[in-house]
Order: sequence, then C-alpha cells, then structure tokens
Amino acid sequence: NMNFIADRLKRIKPSMTVGINVKANALRAEGKDVLVLAAGEPDFDTPLNIRKAAVTAMEEGQTRYVPGKGTPALQKAIQSKFLKDNNLHYDLDEIIVGVGGKHIIYNAMMATINPEDEVIIPAPFWVSYPDIVLLAEGKPVIVPCPEDQNFKLTADQLEKSITDKTKWLMLNSPSNPTGSLYSKQELQKLADVLLKYPQVLIMSDDIYEKVIYDDLEFSTLASVEPRLRDRCLTLNGVSKSYCMTGWRLGYCGAPKEIIAAMNKIQSQSTTSTSSISMAASVEALNGTQDFIDEHNQAFVRRRDLVVNLLNQIDGLSCLTPQGAFYVYPSCAGVIGKVTPDGQKISNDEDFMSYLLESEGIAGVHGAAFGLSPYFRLSYATSDEILTDACARIKRACEQLK
Ligand code: PMP
Ligand code: GLU
Repeated sequence: NMNFIADRLKRIKPSMTVGINVKANALRAEGKDVLVLAAGEPDFDTPLNIRKAAVTAMEEGQTRYVPGKGTPALQKAIQSKFLKDNNLHYDLDEIIVGVGGKHIIYNAMMATINPEDEVIIPAPFWVSYPDIVLLAEGKPVIVPCPEDQNFKLTADQLEKSITDKTKWLMLNSPSNPTGSLYSKQELQKLADVLLKYPQVLIMSDDIYEKVIYDDLEFSTLASVEPRLRDRCLTLNGVSKSYCMTGWRLGYCGAPKEIIAAMNKIQSQSTTSTSSISMAASVEALNGTQDFIDEHNQAFVRRRDLVVNLLNQIDGLSCLTPQGAFYVYPSCAGVIGKVTPDGQKISNDEDFMSYLLESEGIAGVHGAAFGLSPYFRLSYATSDEILTDACARIKRACEQLK
C-alpha cells in the first residue's frame, strides 16, 4: 500500500464547479433527463471573426513556441484594452498572459505566498480561490458577506480581517456566484482602508467585466484609487466576454516584479498558452465588440425570467444579480423539511442532491462557495430549459413536508 501522492494534495479538494458539471453532463450523455445549470460558461459559440483569426493564424504558420508573456501583438492588444476600458496604463513588462484566468491566479499565488501568509477571501467566493491559496501554502481567511449586504465585503469587515500576515485581498466583481457588482463608491471605501496597510496586495478578478446589466458601470480598484495601482493585480481573460472558455487564455496587469516572478514559473511549467489562442485573442480584443451587447440582452432576459420564477417558489428567495450569469437563491425555507422518500434536507448540499435525484436539476450547493444555505444556478442556457428547470424546482419544493 504505497502512498505516491504528495502531502500538499491533502490540503485541497477538486473543483466542485468543474466536478458537478462533468458529472451532470455524463449523466445526460447516458440518456438521463438532466438539465445542467452548473456550467460557468456562456452557451454562445465563439464569435466567427475570432474563430477565423485562429484559422488564419494556423494557415500562416503561427504554430511555434511564442513568448510566455504573450506575443507582441497580444501584449499590445491587452495594453490598449486596459487603457480604453479601465483607464489603466500598463507597460509591456507589467502584463502577462496565462492558460486561463485560473492559471494567472495560481501563478500569482505561487509567486508571492510564503507559508502562513494570509489571503482574505470574502464569501461567497469562486470555489478555486481558497484551494489555490492552500496549494501555495497560504492561509485563506474567509469573511462571510451576508445577503443583506448584497454579498459584498464592507470596509469595516475588511479592516477587521487585516493582520500583519495579510498578503492578498481577493475581490471579484461582478461576482461568481452572486452576480453582485461593487460600485465605484464601495471600492473607494475599501481602498481607503487598504491605503493604511501597505503590506496587502489586491487581486481584482474582473473576468465578468463585460457581463453587466441595467446600464450599471464597471469599476476596478487600480483605477478607482491610483495610489493602489502598484499593489493591484488586475485580472481578466477572454473566457466569459468572448465565449472562449475552451481556448484557455487569461491575462493580467500587475507590478513588474510580480509579472517577472510569474513569468519565471511559466518558463519552467507551461511555457505559454497556445499560439493559436493568442492569435484568436488579439482579434477578440481588437475586433468588433458588437456581440457583447447581443449576448447581454439574452442574459438579462434570462436573469429576469429565472429570478421571477424562483421567487414564486415557496421556500426559496432570490436577489436580482447585476452581472455575470448566475443566480444565488436562498433555500433557507426548505431546510429541515423531509423528502417523499423520508430524507431530511439538512443543508444546501442535501437540497441539491434531492433536486438532481428527483427532477434532474444540476446546480451547485452554496457550501462550495463558502456561504449557506444557498445554491448557484447558471442561466447561460435557453429560455425553454430555464422555464422547465424552474417548474421542476417548484414541483420538487412542493413535495417537501
Ligand atoms: N474567476 C472567476 C470568478 C471565474 O468564475 C472564472 C471562471 N472559471 C475564472 C476566474 C477563470 O476562468 P478561466 O480560467 O476560464 O479564464
Ligand atoms: N468558473 C466557472 C464556474 O464557476 C467554470 C468552472 C471553473 O473553472 O470553476 O463554474
């Protein structure tokens, strides 16, 4: 009975969002009647102009090793994106490209965290934050941000969580899983606290930047408070805005020491993401942005549909998200009830198992995101599927005693 696996793996668990999605899709492939609302990706195809740019790159022979930090064309496209969208100027040695936003976060943590360094993570959080910190031997400090503050971190909570050991604060707006958006004023309040603690770096995960509704305005910390610019890592990627989750490309702007350290890790691990994905991403960033509005019109219609239907279900209640493509309803009203099979629903994980078994609904339980009793549904799917899903959830809830 040899144990071949490293101790560091004992600290972490596999990604729930990835895991539940794979499992639900496998059930569907077996012919089970499962509606998969677990996916963290747009249901639209990558726009044609972007796919064509990839084909051209292949035909032109852009098939060899490229710089890990990104091709010169992509570096320039990212530089102008930050300037145009965020009013942030990054020099080229302050920009790096990775194999998805997830990889950027991983490299940034590996590059900066010493054992016992603390990382403040407001909950609910995207599932991968704490585990990446743990892999890097850091200590996640989870700060619960309840529904009555729109699931957002307050300046007071931030100040109380900072210690001498705090290395990073993780911020994500619009948020996965809640869709909450930090306003400029809210970011300024957090910034005022952060200015007092020069040891703290800030990871601003802006991956859902373009998926925002109701004419609300996106803000990112480094531009709201320029005095924090040199302590911010501004993270973005093409996965969500350009429907390119499978292409695996993310990028960031950050202080050049951090970029150089991340580049060192990359030079000894992945080398770079794919040259073809880089070429496609140049077109994504420089080409037409018209499809973003079209996609958001579909997303906002689906959001309104789902929020409205869920709020008609006894036992559930759902806030209206301002961005991303998830709802994070409370299931407090069904906890303690009993299923027709006599199983007690003790928590959100039980509720999600019940929904999957009784009605074939695959979503992700709130505990995975660090705040219960809630669950996450993705509405990046058709109106028909969403309507069917809400009817099934309603039926399942009505069967509970
Ligand atoms: N941050 C958040 C909040 C996310 O939801 C995702 C989605 N997977 C990512 C980062 C990373 O996405 P990717 O690795 O596909 O760029
Ligand atoms: N981020 C998406 C999600 O939350 C995709 C899966 C993942 O990488 O976690 O579902």
